Amino acid sequence: MQRYEMFVDGKNREPAGGEWFDTDNPFTGTPWAQVARGGADDVADAVDAAQRALDSGSWPELTASARGALLRRLGDTIAANARRLAEIEVRDNGKLFTEMYGQLRYLPEWFYYYGGLADKVEGSVIPLDKKGYFTYTQKEPVGVVGLITPWNSPLLLLGWKLAPALAAGCTVVIKPSEFTSASTLELVRLFDEAGLPPGVVNVVTGFGQEVGSALVEHPGVRKIAFTGSDTVGRTINEAAARDLKHVTLELGGKSPNVVFADADLDAAVNGVVSGIFAATGQTCIAGSRLLVQEDVHDEVVRRVVELAGSARMGDPMDEGTQVGPVTTPAQYAKVLDYIGIAHDEGAEVVLGGAAASRPECGDGWFVEPTVFTGVDNSMRIAQEEVFGPVLAVIPFRDEHEAVAIANDVRFGLGAGVWTSDIGRAFRMSARIRSGTVWVNTYRAVSYMAPFGGMKDSGLGRENGIAAVNAYLEDKTVWINTGAAVGNPFVMR
Ligand code: NAD
Repeated sequence: MQRYEMFVDGKNREPAGGEWFDTDNPFTGTPWAQVARGGADDVADAVDAAQRALDSGSWPELTASARGALLRRLGDTIAANARRLAEIEVRDNGKLFTEMYGQLRYLPEWFYYYGGLADKVEGSVIPLDKKGYFTYTQKEPVGVVGLITPWNSPLLLLGWKLAPALAAGCTVVIKPSEFTSASTLELVRLFDEAGLPPGVVNVVTGFGQEVGSALVEHPGVRKIAFTGSDTVGRTINEAAARDLKHVTLELGGKSPNVVFADADLDAAVNGVVSGIFAATGQTCIAGSRLLVQEDVHDEVVRRVVELAGSARMGDPMDEGTQVGPVTTPAQYAKVLDYIGIAHDEGAEVVLGGAAASRPECGDGWFVEPTVFTGVDNSMRIAQEEVFGPVLAVIPFRDEHEAVAIANDVRFGLGAGVWTSDIGRAFRMSARIRSGTVWVNTYRAVSYMAPFGGMKDSGLGRENGIAAVNAYLEDKTVWINTGAAVGNPFVMR
């Protein structure tokens, strides 16, 4: 079986503890490679390498324009290897090849965009209230940054952090998910070949409690950029606070897709079904609550069930497959648990509601696309993140009630509004408390558009121009151009 070593200081590295763990293919349910099980010693060496690369060698010598050019070269490298990297991701997380390849083909744009931004980061001259000083600000990299990523879109979500971090001049230590380490290791080796100086990007693989927490607690790390569950996000925030580290947290969601009777129902049904089932529900912005106006409730449910029920399941590498497996056995058990919970709470299953036993699903961890009606927003199936192909349908009477239900949840990541009334689109967008609102579309993202969560869905924003500031700190410089420096003990 193939073995993946870590990558520290521009070199492959065996685990200090000598241990390895299996990484599984969710479609076959079997291991396909082994990954180094890192620990605190590996983290310490990686942080040292990142600090050295920050302070000396060619990286800090690069002009901002040269750093930008290097980022654009890294973008080209991803573009040239997009298919191979996507295939590795599918083998590791079981998501559809069409989705992962789409992500990998889009990812270079982050490196082009932040590469372009690298030499547009400017300080300012302060028009001071005192004479005899020239006072200005400059922006400096925050330092060594720890990047901790989840399994559902490993390289895309890494790129959202890595591209602005490098544009800012930081150096990084990456801790990929233990379920999907392979594509990150492949990527950094490609970056090394493309000319990224040693130590600028390091990868330590392993488990959250061993590698992740060691990275968060390392005093040499000045910032953590994390995407994952809100439980782990909270732990990271607490540990980072003890050391006064900066954090960006992209966490979970329980996003509402709100369909009004005046909507284009064909488009709305397509948006609702792709919002929850296209990625097997394994996306932080899954539209897992369908809020539908009473007058069209039955019709929308009928159409959603018809479309979702027609989805082809099977091998995620096959471009004809529309719903793939769940990524891990633990996640598979969790999704089935939530289906049981929804039953017990009195929700009615109108589609799916069980593990998939279709022959084309083989031994993979598949769950049938599942739709529950008769859901009250206070039920656990409406409040808790399932992260699987399970949709909870909740009826509403009017705009007022739709807003109340949409906001009555501790998360605030994304929301969809389907309506043909422009005034209503503006009113709903203003009143829903979430980091993103999509009107008559769903799940669109761009390197240019800020993304992140309100409430328990996170802290800070990724993407867009401002995201580079999350990796920079302001320094204020005072130059005395003629002000008298008097004796401090003589009163004036
Ligand atoms: P997770 O929180 O279990 O793990 C995420 C990463 O954190 C992994 O690399 C893991 O090893 C590491 N980790 C675990 N414990 C740690 C600890 N104590 N200290 C430091 N690191 C630790 O999340 P997951 O299961 O990989 O991903 C699914 C979750 O991610 C869902 O909740 C989903 O909503 C969220 N997510 C959010 C976004 C977003 O942009 N908001 C995007 C994708 C996924």
